[in-house]
Amino acid sequence: QQRVTVIGGGLAGSECAYQLARRGVPVVLREMKPHKRSPAHKSDQFAELVCSNSLRSDNPESAIGLLHAELRALGSLVLGSADKHRVPAGDALAVERERFSGAITEALQRMPGVEVVAGEVERLPDEGPVVVASGPLTSDALTRELERHVGTKLYFYDSIAPIISGDSIDLSVAFRQSRYGKGGGDDYLNLPMNREEYYRFIAEVKAGQKVVPHSFEEPKYFEGCLPIEVMAERGDDTLAYGPMKPVGLRDPRTGQEPYAVVQLRMEDAAGTSWNMVGFQTRLTWGEQKRIFSTCIPGLQNAEFLRMGQIHRNTFIDSPRLLSRDLSLKTEPRLYFAGQISGVEGYVESAACGYLVALTLHARLTGKEWVPPPATTALGSLLRHVTGEAHPPDYPHQPSNIIFGLFPPLPGRVKKADKRAAYASRAKQDLAAWLPHAGVPGPGAPEHVE
Ligand code: FAD
Repeated sequence: QQRVTVIGGGLAGSECAYQLARRGVPVVLREMKPHKRSPAHKSDQFAELVCSNSLRSDNPESAIGLLHAELRALGSLVLGSADKHRVPAGDALAVERERFSGAITEALQRMPGVEVVAGEVERLPDEGPVVVASGPLTSDALTRELERHVGTKLYFYDSIAPIISGDSIDLSVAFRQSRYGKGGGDDYLNLPMNREEYYRFIAEVKAGQKVVPHSFEEPKYFEGCLPIEVMAERGDDTLAYGPMKPVGLRDPRTGQEPYAVVQLRMEDAAGTSWNMVGFQTRLTWGEQKRIFSTCIPGLQNAEFLRMGQIHRNTFIDSPRLLSRDLSLKTEPRLYFAGQISGVEGYVESAACGYLVALTLHARLTGKEWVPPPATTALGSLLRHVTGEAHPPDYPHQPSNIIFGLFPPLPGRVKKADKRAAYASRAKQDLAAWLPHAGVPGPGAPEHVE
């Protein structure tokens, strides 16, 4: 049996390696950590969550919640670990990050048929199937090597949000509540602002010093993850309608909806650290500390465990470069999985890793690859990567899974019923397709203890 080289033990590479091995395909998993780390990776574990600890909404009537459900049905390693190490976060699937990655690392280390080789890959292996899953922060040497194979330059920019120590937040100001009382009703910490405080904050964000990108790098942000200063530049009220919107929240002290809020989401079950929701930024670290602690009520003594950052995001123009089975048209032994193929998000990356394991397994066993139906979240994600979900000249951008990628619903469906209709159609079609995924039965190696 031919061995597959998987480059990168992130969300996509971990899922891909595991699913291949689970189906009897031997894998060499090459990961540059701990010898070398990207600017965002901190731990030595596989499937590290570099920013938020949330895998987003778990509501099966949201597109991402539907993807969770489909991955669960497929016995995904990443979803299995997330469920096991979940922390309360309203209807979101948030996890205790160390334990989440720890379980995945352990599963891969114990998995028969997976050989882990540490060290940076600078050149692609000369032969055999290769899955490139080196992520948005692919090392420079490998980026140059990939540019030679795909024939174009690869990059894009994105930013990450700060994390605050729980015991440094002023609890006489912050109040615990989820929007509309979702989940447990009190999973988030909210820092309320009045009108005056909000506009003062916006003025400071606009005036604050930013990290300037290199002159040869034109920042191109992902629309769903814009830095706060970019939103503030679009209009003084943009943040109040975006991540700082107060809707569904009532300050128990005043009984009123605040003018704006900064929401903090639990990073660990004990609530020792909290993530500033939607606060990605390229303000300099000094400016973040100054502006956040002087302008956001409740953060006057905040201890920042991690500051917001700007980062590079590497991806290929997959609709033009990849075949339907996610292999490179010009060099079909090379496959691309995860963020580098143009999906966005932890779960989407894991899902993409799973899809590559299925297509590659089909090729290696001489079977026909039957893609998941377009009506499922997995199928829609695949169609985004291959470009089938878009018009022919659509500029490829990384995308989260959204219902906009799904084929339209037949007939007229009331707006309020649309999500449920997408979800029930997907559920039905996934069930019909599931036998093609060849999910190993109970006799196969166990995952996530
Ligand atoms: P990764 O998970 O990054 O895995 C790639 C792996 O490849 C890494 O372990 C890396 O060390 C390794 N590697 C790189 N180069 C080499 C090489 N040359 N040789 C060997 N190994 C190599 N998504 C969300 O859903 N929520 C978020 O909050 C979020 N925040 C993000 C913040 C940042 C800073 C970045 C960069 C991305 C963020 N994303 C977020 C987007 C994305 O979903 C994640 O980056 C996700 O981890 C991508 O999965 P992946 O498997 O493609 O890459």
